[in-house]
Amino acid sequence: MKKAMAHTEPVLDAHGRARRKLLALAALPAATATISPSHAVDRPATKTSAHVLIVGSGLAGLSAASRLRRLLDGATITILDGKEIHNYQPGYTLVASGIWPVEKVVDRNADFMPIGVEWIREHAAEIDPDAKLVVTDRGRRIRYDFLVVAPGLHLDYGLIEGMDTAAIGRDGIGSVYHGHEGAVLTWKAMRAFVARGGRAIMTLPSTALKCAGAPLKMAFLLRDRLHEAGTLGRSQITFNSSLANVFGVPQVNEAVLVRWDALGISVNFEHGLKAVDITRREATFTTPLGEENTSYDFLHVVPPMRAPDAVKNSPLAWREGDFAAGGWLEVDERTLRHRRFPEVFGLGDVNGTRRGKTAATVKKACPVVTRNLAAVIAGKEPALTFDGYTSCPLVVRIGAAMLIEFDYDGRLTPTLPLIEPLQDSWFAWLMKTRLLKPAYVAVLKGRA
Ligand SMILES: Cc1cc2nc3c(=O)[nH]c(=O)nc-3n(C[C@H](O)[C@H](O)[C@H](O)COP(=O)(O)OP(=O)(O)OC[C@H]3O[C@@H](n4cnc5c(N)ncnc54)[C@H](O)[C@@H]3O)c2cc1C
Repeated sequence: MKKAMAHTEPVLDAHGRARRKLLALAALPAATATISPSHAVDRPATKTSAHVLIVGSGLAGLSAASRLRRLLDGATITILDGKEIHNYQPGYTLVASGIWPVEKVVDRNADFMPIGVEWIREHAAEIDPDAKLVVTDRGRRIRYDFLVVAPGLHLDYGLIEGMDTAAIGRDGIGSVYHGHEGAVLTWKAMRAFVARGGRAIMTLPSTALKCAGAPLKMAFLLRDRLHEAGTLGRSQITFNSSLANVFGVPQVNEAVLVRWDALGISVNFEHGLKAVDITRREATFTTPLGEENTSYDFLHVVPPMRAPDAVKNSPLAWREGDFAAGGWLEVDERTLRHRRFPEVFGLGDVNGTRRGKTAATVKKACPVVTRNLAAVIAGKEPALTFDGYTSCPLVVRIGAAMLIEFDYDGRLTPTLPLIEPLQDSWFAWLMKTRLLKPAYVAVLKGRA
């Protein structure tokens, strides 16, 4: 492996470095606007003796707990989650492409648990909203007055025949979604591939995804690593999408396809990964013309995603419409309150809404959920609404990203004056690699 692969910054001359330093200084006030405490001053506490149960202690669960601690005076707040480690998932693409060490994406939930919140280290196995009861995987029965559902989503690798997550990191298999270890192993497989070059197949399922930009970033970064290693000339990258696009927002889709065309990344639409023969390095795709077998040297597997079983199998899931198959949580997309169970709210990836499976979504939606819940506890109607804000710094090469921000209707909603959406920007790269983790931690603590 070439030494250059450890570089995380583009090579610049003195003039370029000075210019970027100036740009960074100029841009920092704008960046901090995105991480500033937009809703830090929560309204005065509502007095209540209610029991609020939060299922999940990821970004959504912890940020909701932090805010509810301030908003509710006298409430008992309980978090239910058996996971001890807290992962900064937006950093996975950086780990999986050799840019960040894994330590940057691994923390302890205990360090972010708000004082005064009870943490039960078990998972929800059943939710019975008629009885206002949650049963844990160890059989504990927890009654609640109000429920915040925030267990993220389930990665359904099992729907791909022959796929074995234990193979990630060897036999040319990568998958950036499989936790922090999966990110490390993906870089291991990618590094081995990049050293020799060959045929890479990148995949995209048809279900809703968390950070739908991540599979695209992996294609861009793989191409960049091949270029850097000098093996691009003997390589081929093909992106097989199950859908008729690679990204759900048309303008972003177009911008990515134009770039890929110029970079020599080819795309097949309506090619869904059906099966993989890991030993033979052969993948089977369903296409409008029937099944297609393709051999590969590197396969990036993006699994279908759905709501966790506890939600999917409960009365809280959508029963009809686009979100029913995935068992996503049936919330009103504006108030984020459950449409049939008024004491239930949803936050984060689990929500069955048109868009919004990013950490940036949680930042914007958490104040809406917590204040609306406080209003309901106080006997009022929810007053705040959420616009579906979703954001993703789409890394296009090492040293540049596009900061994509949009709402439920797919309208671009840029928030930073210095960043032109759909344009490669070093500042968006700076945000991705330097500024967004502190912003994420501020959200966890209910301070942004
Ligand atoms: C590869 C990748 C790249 C990403 N890039 C970006 C990015 O650039 N920008 C961005 O904004 N976002 C990005 N994201 C998305 C972002 O990380 C998620 O949207 C965010 O973490 C969602 O928070 P959450 O709390 O809903 O889910 P999570 O953070 O996944 O937390 C869910 C929690 O619920 C727990 N849980 C699960 N089931 C149960 C149960 N039955 N009972 C109790 N607890 C349960 C889990 O243990 C976990 O702790 C990325 C994600 C990935 C995977």
